[in-house]
Amino acid sequence: MSDLQNTDAPALPGIVVTGASGRMGQMLIRLIADNPEVRLAGALERPGHAWIGQDVGECMGGAPLGVAVSDDAVTVIAQAQAVIDFTAPAATVAFAELTAQARAVHVIGTTGLEQAHLDYLKACARHAPIIRAGNMSLGVNLLVGLTRKVAAALGEDWDIEVVEAHHRMKVDAPSGTALMLGEAAAEGRGKTLADLRTPAREGITGARAPGSIGFAAIRGGDVVGEHDVIFAGEGERIVLRHLATDRAIFARGAIRAAIWGQDKGPGEYDMQDVLGLN
Ligand code: NAP
Repeated sequence: MSDLQNTDAPALPGIVVTGASGRMGQMLIRLIADNPEVRLAGALERPGHAWIGQDVGECMGGAPLGVAVSDDAVTVIAQAQAVIDFTAPAATVAFAELTAQARAVHVIGTTGLEQAHLDYLKACARHAPIIRAGNMSLGVNLLVGLTRKVAAALGEDWDIEVVEAHHRMKVDAPSGTALMLGEAAAEGRGKTLADLRTPAREGITGARAPGSIGFAAIRGGDVVGEHDVIFAGEGERIVLRHLATDRAIFARGAIRAAIWGQDKGPGEYDMQDVLGLN
């Protein structure tokens, strides 16, 4: 890795947004432009994208923001103090290498990462902070803590199911948030999700394995994100629920993470760290 570390960082952290034309990308750019604690330092898109070379504010149908959309990730990330990345797994690992070279904070909201991607991110986090969460909202991160506590309090005779709903464009299932909640429930029982996860159900599945954690996914319309953690016992049920109605909650959390990470050393962090819930 060549070292492209910044030497004279400006007072306001400069944030680069990847996937600038995406749903989360556009939300992030609007909120960064309105936030006096940070500055928009770049907007990245793929080579060949129609927005390349144009002002990102105008591309989004608003006032100019003085930042042209670029496909030159190497140059743009070298000037960043933080990169906020809600794209796709292959893109995220490529951005992670550049962000590590720049010694910038990499805030990763991308979901659907597999073990090989996670291994690569771990290597990159030896050079700079990586803050990654399947869900960046305050409410969901509180729900994670509650799920861990309730699972720890209830015995294995309480079956745990995580049910989630998202918009019709979502490409992965279960959602990153559903997996976070499942992992928290497993931790509450002193296990890992890999130990307890039930494979997706279809056809003759047989009876439910005691102590297992199941997942179900609903896809449709413009649902921003809904998660239920169901604890089903004999004669009673507890349902912990989070409903997201505005994707700004994820973008605000990501910007807060980018600011929080400015004085942190290399390593892997999550939103529980950012919110002081760990
Ligand atoms: P989206 O609207 O489809 O936007 C994705 C953006 O990433 C697009 O601009 C896309 O560009 C770009 N992109 C995809 N692959 C790329 C590549 N290989 N190189 C460069 N750019 C690439 O999706 P979204 O709703 O914003 O969600 C993006 C990701 O964030 C998903 O993984 C989603 O699950 C996750 N998410 C996480 C949270 C959280 O709180 N952690 C919240 C919401 C969403 P093209 O249009 O050119 O493909």
